[in-house]
Formats: sequence, C-alpha cells, structure tokens
Amino acid sequence: METLITYYTQVLCITFIVVNHLFELYLYRRQLTTLHEHRSEVPSEFHNFLTLADHQKAISYATAKLGLGQFKLVWNAILLFYWFPFRGAEKLYLALPGTGTHREVFFLVAFMLIQGLLNLPWSIYSTFVMEQRFGFNRSTPKLFIIDRLKGLLLGLLLGVPLLYGILLIYQGLGKWWWFVSFLFVTAFQFALVWLYPTVIAPLFNKFKPLEGEELKSGIENLVTNAGFNAKEVFVMDASKRSSHGNAYFTGFGKNKRVVFFDTLLNGLKTPEILAILAHELGHMKLKHIPKSLITSLILSFLGFGLMGVLASTNWFYSGHFIRVISPGVLFLLFTQAVPIYTFWFEPIGTWISRKREFEADAYAAGETKAEDLISGLLKLYKENASPVVTDKIYSGFYHSHPPALERIKRLESLK
Ligand SMILES: [Zn+2]
Repeated sequence: METLITYYTQVLCITFIVVNHLFELYLYRRQLTTLHEHRSEVPSEFHNFLTLADHQKAISYATAKLGLGQFKLVWNAILLFYWFPFRGAEKLYLALPGTGTHREVFFLVAFMLIQGLLNLPWSIYSTFVMEQRFGFNRSTPKLFIIDRLKGLLLGLLLGVPLLYGILLIYQGLGKWWWFVSFLFVTAFQFALVWLYPTVIAPLFNKFKPLEGEELKSGIENLVTNAGFNAKEVFVMDASKRSSHGNAYFTGFGKNKRVVFFDTLLNGLKTPEILAILAHELGHMKLKHIPKSLITSLILSFLGFGLMGVLASTNWFYSGHFIRVISPGVLFLLFTQAVPIYTFWFEPIGTWISRKREFEADAYAAGETKAEDLISGLLKLYKENASPVVTDKIYSGFYHSHPPALERIKRLESLK
C-alpha cells in the first residue's frame, strides 16, 4: 500500500513539473503573439499618450524579457528535476556531515546557497545585458556584488535563527509542534513587516522626506485625509540601480511609509505625483497591508497544519524522491516542491491584488483627479517601457496590477 502511494506521488510530482512548465511556456508564447500582433500600431485608446516609437520600444523590451524568461523556465524545470526525480536533494542530505538540528539547518542553508548560485547567472545577465541594452541599468558590478553579499548576510542572520527556532520546536513539542511553529513564524513575519521600512530597506537605499514647495500643501491635505503624517512620505534613491520608476507602501502602525522612487518623480507633474501618492495612501487607508497579513496568516496556518499531518508519513518523502524522514527535508519539500501544486492557484492571488488596485485607484480618484492619475500612470508605462497591451491569460497568472486598458477605462468612468 505504502509503496503504491509513493509511486503515485512520484508520478504526480513529475507530471506537475512537466505540465506546469509546458503551460508556462505556452503562456509566454501567447504573450509574445499578442505583443507581436500589436507591434505596428498604438492602440487607439492610447494615441494621445504614446508615440509609435515608445510603443515599439516597450514591445521590443517585453519581447526580449520573455525570450530570456523562456530559457529561465527551462532551467528551472531542469533544477527541479535534478533536486527531486534525480534525487539531488537526497544526495545533498546524505553527503552532509553532522547530526541532529545542526545537520538539518546545514542542509537547508546549503540548498539555498547552491540554488542561489545556480540562479545567479540569470540575474547577472538580466542586469548587465538585458537592462543595459534598453538603457535601464544604472548598477555597477561593484554595487551588484555588494547587494548580493548584503542580501546573503541578511538572509543568514534572519534565516538561521528562524530555522533553529522551528527545528527546536519540532523536536521539543511532540504532536503540537506545527501549531507552535506557526505562531513562531507568524510573530517573526510580523516583526519583519514592522522592521522592514526603518531597519531593512535602509540597508540598501537612502530615504529622505518628499519635499518641494509646490508639493507641500497638496501632500498635507492628502495625508491628513488618509490618517497619515507628511513625515511618512519618502523618496528613495532607486536611481543608483535602475532607471525604472515606481512607488510603494509598506509597514503598519507607527512604522508605515509611502515611498517614491526618485526615478518616478523626474518626469511627472505635481498633480500627477499627488494622484499617485493618493493611490498609495488609498492602499493604506483601505488597510491592504493588514488584510494581506491576515490572508498569509490563514495560508500559513493551513501550510503548517498540512506539515503536521505529513511530517511522519513515509510516502510524502519517498514520493518526492527523498528516502530520509527529517524536519529539514520536510521544510525543503514545503518550500520547494509543494509550490508546483499550488501554482495553479496563482490567478486567485492576482485577482485579489487587482481588486485592491482598483480600490486604491477609486480612492485616488476621489481625493485627486482621475485624469491626473491616468496621465501619471501612462507616463509610468512609457518611462518603464511597459507595453499597454497584454494577453489576458498570461496576465492573469503574472500581473498583480490590472492591464493598462482596464485600469484606464475604470478611471475614465470615475471622472
Ligand atoms: Zn497600487
């Protein structure tokens, strides 16, 4: 019986790896076709905002990125095949020295380091070849190396104590380990979201208050209405790495912030900046961060519950080609193998995220003018060379923001 379940799980695992990646390649093809079909003409809705040259640059850039993305997908499938069906993960576990908790932590850290190294060429290529070619890269090899080292150090400093914590709970608490681990990880996650704006983000960038005489009075109004403080609106020196522009909101409680990339501010007029600020404040006012924390809380509860159930079943391990029952292997399976099954739920996440984007847009349209947000957004599309056309299914899997046309139409109706 046990061997039969193992066998079926193995078949399922291989099937999912193959089908997922073929499906993703199919989505990439669909997107490429859509881009190609719209290449010769700017869609009529965007005639006033985009020149044909801007539009074609965006299409060329997106096409190049998708081309690279296809290679990355194949590479990712090869790695998954290596780790699981070809038993790379099992070999790694058995090759490591030591015993007990140290060995489990060592295994997970070793896996992450190897995986990180195997994916490093892609990010080097993407930064210094792809982004460079389209004029977006501002990073230098020195900054790139420093960034990686900082990221690695930070990952180890946060990740190793976290792993030790979970593993000690696993060993010490018997059958309720999963629930206590869930509480522990949740507390850790809240602390991270809390500390991110003031402790972690400043390790990589400099932040200063958003200023300017003309902006000042407009900001005061908007932030007061949103229950914010003008001191919580920042500009970040994103231009040291890339010329892509963006804005985001982060943190909660006293540690909340709206952050503008300095690269975003250059091309925008004051009313457009204010409209984008209103959009970000809308996310805050509508409690989108606490809401997504609750969603991830529920998902992590289910995940840990499932881990509790599967922890001591033989078939779950051998079904994923690892003939070792250990907590380190269990975490590896949950972080690396289980996502191949949950991939198909991705559109639900995208759908929720888009709903929130529409809500923040509606908020901004109430606080400022819808037409300022439209022109601000379209300048962002133009500056970032993001195409305004997209395939619906592709975008349903990969885009957390609504397609340009849907978003603009919705804003037009709010004028
Ligand atoms: Zn948004």
